[in-house]
Amino acid sequence: MYSVAVVEDETLTRKAITLSLREAGYTVHEASDALACRALLRQTRLDVIVLDLGLPGIDGMSFARELRSGSDVGLIIVTRQSTPEARIAALDIGADDYLVKPVHYGELAARIRSVMRRSNRERGRRARLGQWIVDLEARTVCKGAENANLTRGEFDILVRLVDANTKIVTRQELMSAISRSPLESDLRSVDALVSRLRRKLDAPEGDSLIATAPGFGYRLAAAPEEP
Ligand code: CA
Repeated sequence: MYSVAVVEDETLTRKAITLSLREAGYTVHEASDALACRALLRQTRLDVIVLDLGLPGIDGMSFARELRSGSDVGLIIVTRQSTPEARIAALDIGADDYLVKPVHYGELAARIRSVMRRSNRERGRRARLGQWIVDLEARTVCKGAENANLTRGEFDILVRLVDANTKIVTRQELMSAISRSPLESDLRSVDALVSRLRRKLDAPEGDSLIATAPGFGYRLAAAPEEP
């Protein structure tokens, strides 16, 4: 059974969301602020965190950033703000989804299922790229004991390239892999992520693992192999 934490300071809203998710079959933990959620993360395994942005103490956006830098828990942001800018900001820090209050409980349960389906697809998947082993489930790229320490954006780009085998992936496609939103339109961030990936993964001498298709996008220089 999936384990969900509801981080929300308004007690009635938190109880209502908790009850509806329990009825939908999830194991639900409640937290009234970021500190309580941190404590939960130390005690138990969480699959998805439903995070209200307007929290006392550590605000929701800062906490979302903290979650993203330290774990790969599914993250659904719930907020009163409905502007495109607010949505972009949430998706940019790596939220898996975004819901505007008042929350429709059936919709929230469906979004959680969708986030879990996405992560289940990667279960047990691994690929070899040159000397690196890409673990799609653990979201790590390692060479022996050395971890390339990719950021979420870098990893998402790499996965999209691995999925394409050696076919060209356009910069637009790579962008949608990192932002999960067609609203953002900064193609240069794709180029920046690819050059960071090259710095982290390429041997100092020799060709890059990632080839440039000028004017189109990028592709893997060689097909990924079985690890
Ligand atoms: Ca609130």
